[in-house]
Amino acid sequence: MDNQNKMKLCNQCNILKSINEFYKSNSNSCKICLNKYQQEYRKNNVLKIKIQTKRYYQKNKLKIQAKNKKYEEKNILKIKQRKKEYNLKNKDKINK
Ligand SMILES: [Zn+2]
Repeated sequence: MDNQNKMKLCNQCNILKSINEFYKSNSNSCKICLNKYQQEYRKNNVLKIKIQTKRYYQKNKLKIQAKNKKYEEKNILKIKQRKKEYNLKNKDKINK
């Protein structure tokens, strides 16, 4: 098995690249193209993604809240400590 020498043609940029340039061996687009695509997609779909995130949250509200609660319970000391440190650090700011 020598994956390093395997080459693959990206169907986006049409450049023959090493298999290492692909995230998955069965992917047809190289990492660069995929990243570009994702960036472009995010840029063009800011609203859509926002709505999707909101919808996901609404649909899974209870699950997410339960998860957050669990996290808080598990890390209550850590969170308290962090808050304490924050308050100490920002004492002047808070008092003003
Ligand atoms: Zn490409």
